[in-house]
Amino acid sequence: MRQINNFINGEFVASGIGKRFDKRSPVDNQVIASIAEAGQAEVDQAVSAAKHALAGEWGQLSTNDRVDLLYGVADEITRRFDDFVAAEMADTGQPHHVMTHAFIPRGAANFKVFADIIKNVPTESFHMDTPDGRGALNYGVRVPKGVIGVVAPWNAPFLLMTWKVGPALACGNTVVVKPSEETPLTATLLGEVMNKVGVPKGVYNVINGFGPDSAGEFLTRHKDVDAITFTGETRTGSTIMKAASDGIRDVSFEMGGKNAGIVFADCDLDNAVDGIFRSSFLNTGQVCLGTERVYVERPIFDRFVTALKEKAEGVTFGRPTDAGVNYGPLISQEHREKVLSYYAKARADGATIVTGGGVPDMPADLAEGSWVQPTIWTDLPESSAVIQEEIFGPCCHIRPFDSEEEVIELANASDYGLATTIWTENLTRAHRVAGKVDVGITWVNSWFLRDLRTAFGGAKQSGIGREGGVHSLEFYTEMRNVCIKM
Ligand code: NAD
Repeated sequence: MRQINNFINGEFVASGIGKRFDKRSPVDNQVIASIAEAGQAEVDQAVSAAKHALAGEWGQLSTNDRVDLLYGVADEITRRFDDFVAAEMADTGQPHHVMTHAFIPRGAANFKVFADIIKNVPTESFHMDTPDGRGALNYGVRVPKGVIGVVAPWNAPFLLMTWKVGPALACGNTVVVKPSEETPLTATLLGEVMNKVGVPKGVYNVINGFGPDSAGEFLTRHKDVDAITFTGETRTGSTIMKAASDGIRDVSFEMGGKNAGIVFADCDLDNAVDGIFRSSFLNTGQVCLGTERVYVERPIFDRFVTALKEKAEGVTFGRPTDAGVNYGPLISQEHREKVLSYYAKARADGATIVTGGGVPDMPADLAEGSWVQPTIWTDLPESSAVIQEEIFGPCCHIRPFDSEEEVIELANASDYGLATTIWTENLTRAHRVAGKVDVGITWVNSWFLRDLRTAFGGAKQSGIGREGGVHSLEFYTEMRNVCIKM
């Protein structure tokens, strides 16, 4: 069994308090790793290492040298691609092709893209008039914010963690990462990469553990953490925001969603069914951008429901590496209990179960895994908790609509505002509706097409701030203005 330790100041270290916890495979519930839980002492050491690294060799590097190191990190991830794929598959149980096509390559890209951005994005400069006629010149200088606390979730662990670590390091900060307790493996592997490439000690640190009264809380409360970037549940964000208020530390939050898919009768039906199938069921529905509320214009409602049902019933469950498997388990037994509680709520609230609604029959060796069926409902009232709350499972409710105004109102009737998808061949309508749905990210005739230079983040309770492209530079640096009198 793997022994996973914390990564502090370039060394893998066990917990001083001797605490360890088990990581179980979502596929069969077997213990696959023993993880050292960081106590307050390890978090203190990691933050102190990160602080010292700022003042050391890392802080003295030229932008070009820093950027070269980050290119090296990306190359080394690519060289060890199979190790990262294997680690992420072991942690999440998700199919091999999801790792190789999306999650691991994006991890490497997160270092390259932000290295390019920091090299190429200019700062501002203003000439101003002065009463003596000689004028003054203002220019902006970006300086690192300092030690960044990175708190990451389990649903796309490597992609989401590097999405923050990449720009944080490109901007010259140091980081202490708290990966999810469910998925510690790739963050740990990245420590090996950092050492191999020669990233100075203390620049990248990993502390393992849980949230409350554990590594997550110790990190976010730490007075020497200068800013916190967090992806996870809205409720957790609220707790972290309170912790960050001590010392007035900056936060960037990417949180939950209850995203609407809007399908107009004039869409390309095959394309729309395909897109909603992916957005509802990819990664077993554990994608913050996923669609759990689908609104379909009445003339194509029945055809749409039938076609989506057929696709949902066509998935192949199994071990991530088995040939033909395209569908994995949920992350844990605990999360399965949560998802199944919503399956029960849907039944209690009078849903018509189009497909699924339970647990699939699995062979004996996988029977203890966190499997659930892809599930589609119709006929629920919009007031049902199943429509209002984020389930984060492979499920969606489909409801017919009759007018553009009606569907915009339905889409916006949520406390969340992360993402939406609009399916129509009428581009005028697409622009119009995109302007009225209250979210941070809108896709038209597509889903999860991500250009890393674009703004990413949520409206309402789905987030605070934007990351991506220059928006990441805004969060990970302080802009200092220098004014020179001529
Ligand atoms: P979570 O909030 O339970 O945990 C996220 C991280 O926060 C974990 O590392 C956890 O240990 C830590 N944590 C928990 N309590 C804490 C506390 N009190 N103090 C400090 N740290 C604490 O979320 P999760 O279940 O891991 O992830 C799923 C959630 O993430 C969903 O709500 C999903 O929508 C959201 N998500 C959002 C985005 C986005 O970009 N908006 C992306 C992916 C996931």
